[in-house]
Amino acid sequence: MDLEKTLKTIEEMGDDHISSSSETPMRPDAFELSDIEKIALIKEDVRNIMETLGLDLSDDSLKGTPNRVAKMFVQEIFGGLHPNRKPKASTFDNKYKYNEMLVEKNITLYSTCEHHLLPIVGQAHIAYISNGTVVGLSKMNRIVDYYAKRPQVQERLTMQIVKELQQVLNTEDVACVIDAKHLCVNSRGIRDIDSSTVTSEFGGAFKNSDTRKEFLDYIKLDTKF
Ligand SMILES: [Zn+2]
Repeated sequence: MDLEKTLKTIEEMGDDHISSSSETPMRPDAFELSDIEKIALIKEDVRNIMETLGLDLSDDSLKGTPNRVAKMFVQEIFGGLHPNRKPKASTFDNKYKYNEMLVEKNITLYSTCEHHLLPIVGQAHIAYISNGTVVGLSKMNRIVDYYAKRPQVQERLTMQIVKELQQVLNTEDVACVIDAKHLCVNSRGIRDIDSSTVTSEFGGAFKNSDTRKEFLDYIKLDTKF
């Protein structure tokens, strides 16, 4: 493939939000710099972008933005790139012998589209069938949050959540559905305010259509308090 064609393909992948792998593409030297060193470098990069746009960074309102954005990138919205921030695997024995499906639904999700660096906002729904190990409920929220705090494509995020829970729970029987809005679609480009994207990953028993249907029916339940 010639360079122009390759670039065009990459561009189209970006526009269509297609990802190339289930792993987040990272360089081998990704963690040679400390967070503090990264913040210092990114701060200068953000300052350059703003200055190139013609903004006056001596203005009181703009002065702190480069530092604020750099800290937010490294410590918050892309903080899930660092393996040190991965939630610890605390599991318990399934003492109740509850061998039915457990569903944790309506987990709020904030992520960032890796093609435009604009927000992805939505909900994740997760289910698993215990084979003897269970996790605390908040653990599932924390796993969603960890993988969401990366530049992402929704398909990869869905797969990463399932893969992680399969490892933690030591079973293939894990499923995840994500329904999310991408601000790159909703607020720019085609400006489709109402559209949302649904992705799903069904492992083990969830490949069976009855089990899958049970999970999807639980998601549809209107939770009343
Ligand atoms: Zn995008």
